[in-house]
Amino acid sequence: MQTPGERPGFPRIRGPFALSLKEATMNDHRKLGRELQLFDTDPLIGSGLPYLLPAGAAVRKAIEDYVHELERRHGYQHVNSPVLGKRELYERSGHWAHYSDDMFPPMEVGGEQFVLRPSLCPHHVLIYRSRQRSHRELPLRVAELGGMYRCELSGVLGGLTRVRAIHLNDGHVFCAPEQAAEEVSRSLDLIEAAHAQLGIRARRYRLSLRGDGGKYVDDPQMWARSEQILREVLEARGQEYDEEKGESAFYGPKIDIQIADAAERETSISTVQVDLYMPGRFELSYIGPDQQPRRPVMVHRSVVGGMERLLSHLIEVHAGAFPAWLAPVQAVVLPVSDTEAEAGQALVRRCVEAGLRAELAHPDRGSLGARVRQHRLVPYQLVIGPREAASHEAAVRLRDGGQVGAVPIEHLVNQLAGWCSPVLA
Ligand SMILES: [Zn+2]
Repeated sequence: MQTPGERPGFPRIRGPFALSLKEATMNDHRKLGRELQLFDTDPLIGSGLPYLLPAGAAVRKAIEDYVHELERRHGYQHVNSPVLGKRELYERSGHWAHYSDDMFPPMEVGGEQFVLRPSLCPHHVLIYRSRQRSHRELPLRVAELGGMYRCELSGVLGGLTRVRAIHLNDGHVFCAPEQAAEEVSRSLDLIEAAHAQLGIRARRYRLSLRGDGGKYVDDPQMWARSEQILREVLEARGQEYDEEKGESAFYGPKIDIQIADAAERETSISTVQVDLYMPGRFELSYIGPDQQPRRPVMVHRSVVGGMERLLSHLIEVHAGAFPAWLAPVQAVVLPVSDTEAEAGQALVRRCVEAGLRAELAHPDRGSLGARVRQHRLVPYQLVIGPREAASHEAAVRLRDGGQVGAVPIEHLVNQLAGWCSPVLA
């Protein structure tokens, strides 16, 4: 089986050889995240507001770059929008009436009220509405990695799974009603491609339906139509799913791809939603082939969810031994003695210039064996002894103990760059 993130024909790297299975299944991302210096918190910043350390930020940047490129190849246009909006915006979107319990209270500035946004949807709606749209522009796919805020009570916060500041991989497709099913299906394709690269295994697909009570928009016909679209897509794909009431968005039903953490608790990161509500609230339109205005459908989707929850899951799933393209340090250079230190430093420089995350484990940091153990989670360990230094080579060792052998420096950097790239579907 090919390990996610690796290309066929290249050296295979298995998981965390240094961690026993028992240790791996007991991994709590909060413990491991601090041990591996991925993230931390500070009471002065506040609970539910973790920060990423350089290693965690490197993993997040790799994910962001991958998802951005995946979306670009699938026809998305990326935008940037502010994390604040006027209270009226959320009254219009329906968040104020249906979702205000989860929103931070408004800030009063110059006689106006501003809210930290609870979702990116309203901003993207306004971007769609910024000019008249034609049927020729549809489906219009808009994506953004943007901040959103949730007023969680401090009692339920911990680590990266329940946070007050979320950096969401979000996207909205504005399309004609007859295109909606196809766009939902394409969104599921994107999600499945990303999961394969990240090494995420879905536990189940959940069709999340509305529950009772005033949290949901009251329009039974609208709900029936949007649920119908999602059911048709799931059935056409031959995808098994469970239905669950009370788990939908306030404006429409969702397909949630459920995953489980180390303690078997289920959570969702990836989602696709059909929304027939917000386009009406904002009076969105496009000009049809007959020159008449029509109302688009909105498909909300997140390929990998919020960066925080995704990171927590990846830390646990990989027990810190991330796929090579995600690893905070992808290659460590190990000169055997001081004599090879200079050659080692030069190799690190070449790796860094080629876009790799590489570092030197200097001989003054201990014996070769001790340094290999210190870097046991680094996918590629490049050893330079007297023989390799003389022949301008490095001996490549994989983190699972596998040996590639001596590779000329000339070829090594290019090869490493290939081994450390995600496969874009
Ligand atoms: Zn949305």
